[in-house]
Amino acid sequence: MSDVLERFLRYVQVDSPSDPDHMDVTPSTPCQHEMARVLGEDLRAIGCQDVVVDEHAYVTGTLPASPGAEGLPALMLCAHIDASPDAPAHGVRPHLVRYEGGPLVAGVVDGEPVQTTPEQVPDLERFVGQDIVCTDGTTLLSADDKAGVAEIMALLARLSAHPELPHPTIKAAFVPDEEIGHGAGLLDVEALGARWGYTVDGEALGEFNYECFSASEATVRVRGVMVHPGSAKNVMVNAITVAAEFQQMIPAAERPEHTEGREGFYHPTDIEGTASEVTLTYILRDFDADAFARREKCLRDVAAFLNARYGEGTVTVTVREQYRNMAERLRGMDFLVDHALAANREVGIDPVVVPARGGTDGAQLTFRGLPCPNIATGGYNAHSVREFIPVSSLEVTVDLLERLVARFAVPQDESQGA
Ligand SMILES: [Zn+2]
Repeated sequence: MSDVLERFLRYVQVDSPSDPDHMDVTPSTPCQHEMARVLGEDLRAIGCQDVVVDEHAYVTGTLPASPGAEGLPALMLCAHIDASPDAPAHGVRPHLVRYEGGPLVAGVVDGEPVQTTPEQVPDLERFVGQDIVCTDGTTLLSADDKAGVAEIMALLARLSAHPELPHPTIKAAFVPDEEIGHGAGLLDVEALGARWGYTVDGEALGEFNYECFSASEATVRVRGVMVHPGSAKNVMVNAITVAAEFQQMIPAAERPEHTEGREGFYHPTDIEGTASEVTLTYILRDFDADAFARREKCLRDVAAFLNARYGEGTVTVTVREQYRNMAERLRGMDFLVDHALAANREVGIDPVVVPARGGTDGAQLTFRGLPCPNIATGGYNAHSVREFIPVSSLEVTVDLLERLVARFAVPQDESQGA
């Protein structure tokens, strides 16, 4: 059994789902401490230095550079230790299935096969005759993102055992609660001391993300004028009516249910209130900075229009930025993209650049000054009891990472500036 497979099977059997109902504490679940402890021990066993497992279940460690690369900037590799709370995630029992084509059956639950067909995942065809790690069908696998964790850990072990392999100083960072939006939030970027890095997260082999949405959340507050309904004529302003008007004026074709690829959207996520006051919550998403700014302007324009009709202060809009498209901060650092694509090709993978229709840990880190695109783990069907990962994908991703870090063992061309 390969090192990466052994680690992966071991890590997925340590429970570590995050919990959106306990976002006030990090980690949101005590079990993530156990996962962090195991990873801290493994980093030490590999020979990493400065291993820290902190009180929030963040794990960091340093692998010193290979001879000759000591003076170069450190490279971070980051993965998240929590499993998604979207599917049962306690008591994961992984097993290997020799895939012979047709439906991939993970297990049988209540007499029904839990399976994935090649129609659902056409990539399956590439893995005929190979071993695929599945669950027993009752839980997710948490290849998202224990595959990323195992791949980084196996890389570090390989580099440590083979001092002839070139690499800069590598900073490993394993973070909790990514699935509930915290992720790298409490990672001390300055203390980590890496100039740039990659997250190893996300799905099918070859997928590469260096673009993601820019994201904000808008709170729209509507204040009505309440009087007795019996004597309301020409006086009452019903906040519910105005809120409904507001929503009707937002471009209908630009909702998540009608958009894909590089299209952005307005998405109403929450509404609460009474005839006197209503609060609407929207999330705004776009890849293009100007288009993103126009979305906020659209909400403010609609508010101004309604205020002209119903009175100043009836509708107010507050916008809070959540994260930004990391491509904006990668300008001038094309090598971060080029190296990743080249490393894919060197191990026989055809890379595909996919704009991420969501945030990544890397987007947040990029904005905090640590440029950080995302490399795929090779897993499929994340957040589902049908989640699986081919053994060959785990193994080839370690090879890919080995090629990738070698490219940082020489000075980079930062001439275009960041
Ligand atoms: Zn993930």
